[in-house]
Amino acid sequence: MKRRELSLAMLAAAALPIVGACTPPTRGTSAPPSTTLSRAEWRDLLPADRFAVLFEEATERPFSSPLNDEQRSGTYICAACHLPLFESRHKYDSGTGWPSFTQPIAGSMGTKPDYKLLIRRTEYHCIRCGGHQGHVFRDGPPPRGERWCNNGLALLFIPEGEALPPLRG
Ligand SMILES: [Zn+2]
Repeated sequence: MKRRELSLAMLAAAALPIVGACTPPTRGTSAPPSTTLSRAEWRDLLPADRFAVLFEEATERPFSSPLNDEQRSGTYICAACHLPLFESRHKYDSGTGWPSFTQPIAGSMGTKPDYKLLIRRTEYHCIRCGGHQGHVFRDGPPPRGERWCNNGLALLFIPEGEALPPLRG
């Protein structure tokens, strides 16, 4: 390699990491800001049954949520911090007795493995406040094959045409 080619190659190699580091994060993929509320503050804000599901990972009784029968167009938001989590067009009747969705709004959920029932399940929660929402299973309808099985108590439904409440916490 001639001296000039060598120095050009070194320049190119040196420039690559700089380009990478300067690329701004793509809008919409970064996590929304986290809440600053403590567990005790959420306990004060939320009704006891909603708190038990969201922050103690309780599971509501099947067929107990009015959201099972909710058919209107709209948005399902976190009952704690109000982050939009599901769109009504992704809701379907899974027959399980819990509101079920084929997918969440992109970037709205975090997941973790859960072995409480001895078998491995995937727990998911609101990415913003950490509030437990439900479990995701691989027996949903095509094309994604996912069933996001949600506690109705962890959600609020906002019909289309109504303003979403501001994020809280
Ligand atoms: Zn939340």
